[in-house]
Amino acid sequence: MNSLLRRLYSNLPSIPCRLCGSPSQEYPLCCACINDLPLLGPACPRCAMPTTQGQLCGQCLSHPPEQDQSISLFRYHEPIKRLIADLKYHDKLYLTQLFAHLMSKKLIHSPLPHCLIPIPLHPKRLRQRGYNQSLELANSLSKQLNIPVSNRYLSRIINTPPQASLPFKQRKSNIQHAFKLMSSNLPSHIALVDDVLTTGHTANIAAKLLRQKGIKIIEVWTIARTIRHD
Ligand SMILES: [Zn+2]
Ligand SMILES: [Zn+2]
Repeated sequence: MNSLLRRLYSNLPSIPCRLCGSPSQEYPLCCACINDLPLLGPACPRCAMPTTQGQLCGQCLSHPPEQDQSISLFRYHEPIKRLIADLKYHDKLYLTQLFAHLMSKKLIHSPLPHCLIPIPLHPKRLRQRGYNQSLELANSLSKQLNIPVSNRYLSRIINTPPQASLPFKQRKSNIQHAFKLMSSNLPSHIALVDDVLTTGHTANIAAKLLRQKGIKIIEVWTIARTIRHD
């Protein structure tokens, strides 16, 4: 059977890897490029900032964020930066399947949340972009992990400038009142899903709102983590 499968696969046309262009049986990246991606490694369980042995970081010991746990796959370095830009701005939605696959491998032994809540876009930005990359990622994760997605709990009521366009100091006030909770009937364990965790303000504000409604366990799942002092 294995040799039959091998023969079938060897007859498949090769597809150029999206990063290096070399012919590959994988999609969208070849195995070598997947193995070269900048994995996050041991990190603080609360905020996903790298720590030597996966212990809590100093910042979380003195000022813990609202979420109980943060899980991120990669450091926000090249080529992840480029792949996330492709996902966000160039309709490369197939990348969510790769990221969701890698994320579900990382989560295989963890207790899973009851629901995935993507960080919403403001309706105006959603119209401009045509899709919300966080919802697309949550949908792919939902298929892999068999967890429902809900984008009806949280909505974005202020069209804030993109966090990445602002100096770090302005990011907190930019996002302060951006979200509104649309329902009070929420499950007790949820994961917020977003593309990148940078200062953490966006996730923190959303998590605060959810916590006020009595959610017991709040996780933040992202593709990549921006590293301080990088
Ligand atoms: Zn490649
Ligand atoms: Zn931390």
